[in-house]
Amino acid sequence: MTSSFPASTVLGYPRIGPDRELKRALEAYWEGRADRRDLESTARSLREDTWRRLAGLGLDGLPSNTFSYYDQVLDTAVLLGAVPERYRQADDLATYFAMARGADGLAPLRMTKWFDTNYHYIVPEIGPETVFSLDAAKPLAEVREARALGLETRPVVVGPVTFLLLAQASPDSPDGFAPLDRLDDVVEVYARLLADLAAEGVGWVQLDEPALVADRTPAELAAAGTAYRRLGRLEHRPALLVASYFGDLGDALPVLAGTPVEAVALDLVRGTGHGIEALAGKTVVAGVVSGRDVWRTDTDRALATLLAVRERAGRVAVGTSCSLLHVPYDVERETGLDPSLRERLAFAEQKVAEVAGLTRLLAAASGPHLPGSHLPGESVVQGRPPAYGRRTGQGRAPYPVRAAAQAEHLKLPLLPVTTIGSFPQTGALRGARAALAAGEIGEAAYESVVRTEIERVIALQERLGLDVLVHGEPERNDMVQYFAEHLDGFAVTRHGWVQSYGSRCTRPPILHGDVGRSEPITVRWARFAQSLTSKPVKGMLTGPVTIVAWSFVRDDLPLREVVLQVADAVREEVADLEEAGIRVIQVDEPALRELVPLRRAEQDTYLEWAVAAYRWATSGASERTQIHTHLCYSDADQILAAIDALDADVTSIESARSRGRVLGVVGGFSRGLGPGVYDIHSPRVPGVDEVEGLLTEALRAVPAERLWVNPDCGLKTRSYEQVEAALANVAEAAARLRARHA
Ligand code: GLN
Ligand code: ZN
Repeated sequence: MTSSFPASTVLGYPRIGPDRELKRALEAYWEGRADRRDLESTARSLREDTWRRLAGLGLDGLPSNTFSYYDQVLDTAVLLGAVPERYRQADDLATYFAMARGADGLAPLRMTKWFDTNYHYIVPEIGPETVFSLDAAKPLAEVREARALGLETRPVVVGPVTFLLLAQASPDSPDGFAPLDRLDDVVEVYARLLADLAAEGVGWVQLDEPALVADRTPAELAAAGTAYRRLGRLEHRPALLVASYFGDLGDALPVLAGTPVEAVALDLVRGTGHGIEALAGKTVVAGVVSGRDVWRTDTDRALATLLAVRERAGRVAVGTSCSLLHVPYDVERETGLDPSLRERLAFAEQKVAEVAGLTRLLAAASGPHLPGSHLPGESVVQGRPPAYGRRTGQGRAPYPVRAAAQAEHLKLPLLPVTTIGSFPQTGALRGARAALAAGEIGEAAYESVVRTEIERVIALQERLGLDVLVHGEPERNDMVQYFAEHLDGFAVTRHGWVQSYGSRCTRPPILHGDVGRSEPITVRWARFAQSLTSKPVKGMLTGPVTIVAWSFVRDDLPLREVVLQVADAVREEVADLEEAGIRVIQVDEPALRELVPLRRAEQDTYLEWAVAAYRWATSGASERTQIHTHLCYSDADQILAAIDALDADVTSIESARSRGRVLGVVGGFSRGLGPGVYDIHSPRVPGVDEVEGLLTEALRAVPAERLWVNPDCGLKTRSYEQVEAALANVAEAAARLRARHA
């Protein structure tokens, strides 16, 4: 009954639209400027364009159900009926968006990063009370839609093990409950889904199990084995492809090998293919074209890998290492890029063409023992020895010495109030930037808009009585792109949008060469801002790890070497800011946690070099210059020791939404700390009493001499109205507490 797996495929595809059509349609719908029919019709044409395009590029196996109005994990929750009662609304779409974005008075479900990518998924909530029930409307509709175009597809669904491992326990779950405890119940819903898809005539289904490439306990691995044996034994089902990506399956590989699933997808860009022989008898979808970077695939190397897979496992299909969701659509549109760079690049379309091309080459390569076949783990090419030893700069003076020097130099009050850097990006500002890019206004006119904005931000902070001011970052479109535009070794794209979450996209810069700083980047605006006030203005820099994490990075050097090149540039910028009279410098590292390897065995090494790079970037500062850092997440406990090791004088961290978690772990923190007291992700303005309460709570964990008062993150997505009211309340709460402590 089982048909063989197509010769070529991709595990998924971007869905936001080549011109972010879905973003616009979603936002119009949310704002009531468009109705459901408009949204649905945009979505349908995006899906149809994608399938036609993939087929046109010569791909055999087309995925479906990879479209999403918001997020594929949320889609899976809906598919399984795992919708917490409080979100239920009059219609299904309202319910869906209530979970994703909140509804009046109702906070949305938590959102967090998808493995080590910059994509964010919605965290499902599962408890012992969750009633699962199948709602297969979406995958079935997509199968039919494609069929109407004459195309057969393979529905893609997040697999049961990954779904539950990514879920959080619902608020009323008893202690000790874990969502994975519900695996048997969930697997029954998947069984019904598979039956429905089989009845629809679907030949193959892809179940994504990236959670299996991280360290898993023996119990979790056993659960995965049980789940796939159960699904495999079903009488009426399509053939199953279990897709792993972002690394090696490790111990999970023999587990899957021991189940009746017909195919397994392996990431052979990040992974090594170790143990692949165990998959003999199944089809291996060999992910040799990277879904995580923008470089052209090395054909010889990919072919050698494909031949090795064929030799050891038997049946092989050519695929991408993961979904192409993480790369932009089409490099051909980037006409502004240097042609010599452009020809090294491949975006989603080019990658699909590479998959198709490799498939033809593989078919033509006869004989199982072609010379040169080898798995990535057996690569004969040795990496260059790292040269990062030279930047082991001595640390700064011990904190108590610095703290005394800074107290003298800055003369800050107890519980100093500050912000994280950006202020609202107004329509006028965005308009001016667009006009500059379109050549409608000149540099001078643009700069005068920026100057006016800085004056307004400084005046506002003075009026509110804040203590360490910021210039508001009006000249920056994005905290990484801005630096990429001013550093050598980077290129930026015009259309290279990648979905970050929901309708939000970023345009990651491309780090393609040696990084260098030919002139100061932030000094001019910092100096201007400082000239407007006698209070200290914080210089604002993005840290080396974050700049690299949010870019597409060259793959011919070890990552740490690239990060250290960026650290050199940041270090020079710190020196120039100091020289210009800036007394407080913040170096943001919100992506520090994102790059933590999925496997524990690799984590310490990463944290060691990441911390070393940060310290190299900041340790040139004199002891009286106050170094701040900022991290955007509340679950800092995972890497608290590393954050502490950054040795910043002040660390601000998100915590308005999850107090207990942050305050419970920062006790050991020995320097300045600003747990956020204003949730900037919400339009809500916190009251004075509320902020005072949060600060009082914080004072139980952090002594007053080291506590800072600040929002969770930058203010750029809020309106001035909200920001002004919120910061006034924050300042008022700090003043009350200060009076009490005096
Ligand atoms: N300084 C940046 C801002 O305020 C920090 C943003 C971030 O942490 N993501 O916008
Ligand atoms: Zn932040």
